[in-house]
Amino acid sequence: MMLPPWLESLLSTTFFTGCSIHGASARSECNMYCLDCAGTGAFCIYCRETMHPHHNVIQIRRSSYHDVVRVGEIQRFLDVGGVQTYVINSARVLFLNERPQPRGGAAAAGKAAGGRACEVCGRSLLDSSRFCSLGCKVAAIKNNRNLHLIHGAAAAAAVVVEKEEEKRHLKMYRSTSPPPRTTSNARRRKGIPQRAPMGT
Ligand SMILES: [Zn+2]
Ligand SMILES: [Zn+2]
Ligand SMILES: [Zn+2]
Repeated sequence: MMLPPWLESLLSTTFFTGCSIHGASARSECNMYCLDCAGTGAFCIYCRETMHPHHNVIQIRRSSYHDVVRVGEIQRFLDVGGVQTYVINSARVLFLNERPQPRGGAAAAGKAAGGRACEVCGRSLLDSSRFCSLGCKVAAIKNNRNLHLIHGAAAAAAVVVEKEEEKRHLKMYRSTSPPPRTTSNARRRKGIPQRAPMGT
């Protein structure tokens, strides 16, 4: 099971509470999360400056009272493949956790429309994604499904690069003449068609 140590803590953190230190300031709602410090919970932008300088911090945003994170921010740390994304305020985001839904309602609607549904909670999905949220992907991974959250994308990219390298190598090999035999070997073996002498 390949889960980064901060992931479950992130998913269970309550965001958008007031900061106990900076409550008097205008932008003191706790919508930041530090991947390096993990267990410290949510904090505000002022806490970030003083307590988490140069740390890997992500910002949580809200959509209809649910926590979302920008794909551009989280995909540097996680392979979020298979998780449904949405464009909200012209940024692509994904939901951290499963959203409550009427029992069986959404799943039934999704099935009736022939659409796809989240493999974990049954919420209907807009496209060929497999999960409605990061939380549901984590739940699937815990059930030992063959999914990746770390290095998945990086590993795939590495394989592609390797193949490209191989192709280039083969091409180079083909475009040049066959590897030259040692002249003594060529002389000794009879019946081999003579090639044009190389060089002078
Ligand atoms: Zn603060
Ligand atoms: Zn930190
Ligand atoms: Zn789900």
